[in-house]
Amino acid sequence: MSTDDPQHPSHPQKPAFTAETVDFPPTRPARPCPNCGKMSVAASYPFCSKRCRMVDLNRWLTGAYAIPVVESDEESDDL
Ligand SMILES: [Zn+2]
Repeated sequence: MSTDDPQHPSHPQKPAFTAETVDFPPTRPARPCPNCGKMSVAASYPFCSKRCRMVDLNRWLTGAYAIPVVESDEESDDL
């Protein structure tokens, strides 16, 4: 599959923004979900679903992205 065909001429006279571009939906174009890679939906952009958004949020809350989880003091209290 070759999308970049060297023999295919570019569009030097590509028209600027026209009224036709407004035909596009106001939502942002779909992009792969950062969590699972599936196509995202506008409802939970940029994730594919609310579940994936929660998973990503949970990563932040659990500190997977920043501060590592330290062991609780309750365990050392057993000494
Ligand atoms: Zn996902």
